Amino acid sequence: MKKQKSDSKVQKILKAVKLYRTECRTSILGILLEATKPLNQEQIAKRLGKKRFNKVTIYRTLDSFCEAGLVHKAFMQKRALYFESAKDCTESQCHPHFTCTNCGVTYCLTGMKLPMAKSPHKGFIIRRQQVRLEGLCPACA
Ligand SMILES: [Zn+2]
Ligand SMILES: [Zn+2]
Ligand SMILES: [Zn+2]
Repeated sequence: MKKQKSDSKVQKILKAVKLYRTECRTSILGILLEATKPLNQEQIAKRLGKKRFNKVTIYRTLDSFCEAGLVHKAFMQKRALYFESAKDCTESQCHPHFTCTNCGVTYCLTGMKLPMAKSPHKGFIIRRQQVRLEGLCPACA
């Protein structure tokens, strides 16, 4: 029951950005909307479980979501790119990501707004801001 409800929500979102509803898109967007933290491609593939799509299909699906602005590339960690739903971001700014230098865990600091950077250099137009922060998480502090 719950699954059907989230599926129709996903389909509405896809329709709004004019992306065809493929099984791969519906499944991956559902996973990212339910995820509590950013996921890399391998973690997404794992969550797809029995619904196996090849790497290229998953990659292209994520790419089409990024292009449509539904999903953001949150950060890179150990050479893997982490994706998350853009629902906790504004058009000009992503919420900051905090990485603990002790345990290596990265946290989403949703709800934290930073002033938009202004370039002291002429001719640079800043359209979007993504900030990475480092320090100690509550468990390690
Ligand atoms: Zn974002
Ligand atoms: Zn920590
Ligand atoms: Zn995040």
